[in-house]
Amino acid sequence: MTLTSSVDSAALDTLGARLRGCLIRPEDGDYDAVRAVFNGMIDRRPAAVIECRGSDDVARGIAFARRHDLVLSVRGGGHSVAGNAVCDGGIMLDLSTLKQLQVDKDRRTARAGAGLTLGELDRGTQEYGLATPLGVVSVTGIAGLTLGGGLGWLNGEYGLACDNLIEAEIVTADGDLLQVGPESHPDLIWALRGGGGNFGVVTAFSYRLHPVGPVLAGGLSYPWAKVRDVLRFHDEFVTTAPDKLSTAVSIGIDPSGQPTVGIAVCWCGPHEDGERVLAPLRAIGPPLADTIGSTSYVALQSAADAGFPTGRQHYWKSGWMRTLTGSALDTLIEHVPQMPSSMSGIGLQRMHGAASRVAPDATAFRHRADQYDFLILSQWEDPLDAARNIGWTRGLFDAMQPHLRDAVYVNNLGAEGPDRVRAPYGSNYTRLAEVKRRYDPTNVFRMNQNIAPGPEPSGSRT
Ligand SMILES: Cc1cc2nc3c(=O)[nH]c(=O)nc-3n(C[C@H](O)[C@H](O)[C@H](O)COP(=O)(O)OP(=O)(O)OC[C@H]3O[C@@H](n4cnc5c(N)ncnc54)[C@H](O)[C@@H]3O)c2cc1C
Repeated sequence: MTLTSSVDSAALDTLGARLRGCLIRPEDGDYDAVRAVFNGMIDRRPAAVIECRGSDDVARGIAFARRHDLVLSVRGGGHSVAGNAVCDGGIMLDLSTLKQLQVDKDRRTARAGAGLTLGELDRGTQEYGLATPLGVVSVTGIAGLTLGGGLGWLNGEYGLACDNLIEAEIVTADGDLLQVGPESHPDLIWALRGGGGNFGVVTAFSYRLHPVGPVLAGGLSYPWAKVRDVLRFHDEFVTTAPDKLSTAVSIGIDPSGQPTVGIAVCWCGPHEDGERVLAPLRAIGPPLADTIGSTSYVALQSAADAGFPTGRQHYWKSGWMRTLTGSALDTLIEHVPQMPSSMSGIGLQRMHGAASRVAPDATAFRHRADQYDFLILSQWEDPLDAARNIGWTRGLFDAMQPHLRDAVYVNNLGAEGPDRVRAPYGSNYTRLAEVKRRYDPTNVFRMNQNIAPGPEPSGSRT
């Protein structure tokens, strides 16, 4: 018996007839396409996929899953490396059809459907010379990215995506449709700013926008022989970098197995000032290549896309790290030549400025500091290469442990167990568990980096 055969087929027929969108089942031709997610290691088979046309379809899907005691998963852009957008044997809510976008250029706000990708939102807001901070790969979904945090090229000047979330439309576990903001549901908007998809299904996000014109951006690559000097210099350089500059280090190997090191930058202020600020970085090395120049923000946002096609095998390990010096640097350099796949990379995306100045308890996103998001991003094509790639990734991660904080960015987590889900939240976890208890006491939304509902407050039990 397959997992899906336990679901009442007649009930699914009735559900399908009530929806505005399509109900897609294993026998349908597009089933394999709609259940596929970014990480090719994930191969799960939901009993049915609902292509949601609006919050009413979302509410019907939630009610159906609850009535039939089925697991429920929610797909925004499908890019979570853990593959939480898709479930086995349950109901998958596919929000990728929710593409509406309204930009209010005077109030500098945008209301965005939960199925938009970063590129779609950026293109819509850039028509007015505006943008909200998102991530750095344009095909990622805004939904999962914003709900987990959202670290990108504008973080120094304007903060994280979740810091710019001003309101959300959400369907709760009980099927209620709420407009959530600081006035109406302060605890819930606090939790949505970094707490992930634990509290309901967000159907629309409202963002604060900022003027963003052409940026000064690109990359510098350096000879591997200079890797120590380059990374030590960068580590010092970023401590005084202006908010308008964001940087990311990337380390990998080329197809011939030769290690590579580069620094990518984005300056979002006047270009003459940016040229001056960037001069010292350009002087070290000297660089083998320098692609920094004036570019449209939309072009920058899709510049890395080709390196992340959907369907490759992915295994990631990550943690926040304050500095990259001394034995941390030695350990990293020692492991790079053994990297098994030239598609993989080690990224050190810098959080600083506006993103790091937010008080740690002001949003669910706890870890606010000038720091690197250290990410070992392993990707390869052939499933038979899994053991080699996973083994190397774990080996490097274990060796780096002494240099990492007991803290991680939730959107980099794979399926790493409940204890690890506390690491993104630290002392905010208790409040998150309390909000979870109030909005989803039976943990309907558990196909995510799950925050279990907290205990009833003492005195409330009979
Ligand atoms: C190639 C690549 C590049 C990336 N670059 C960056 C980056 O630069 N910066 C950064 O911060 N992160 C980055 N990430 C991480 C990214 O933020 C996460 O993968 C994020 O989960 C993607 O969101 P999604 O909607 O595509 O994912 P999904 O897999 O669809 O969803 C992720 C989680 O959120 C839940 N969810 C999704 N939509 C909703 C909703 N509407 N309501 C409630 N819950 C929902 C899902 O159930 C799931 O648990 C990158 C990831 C990839 C694969």
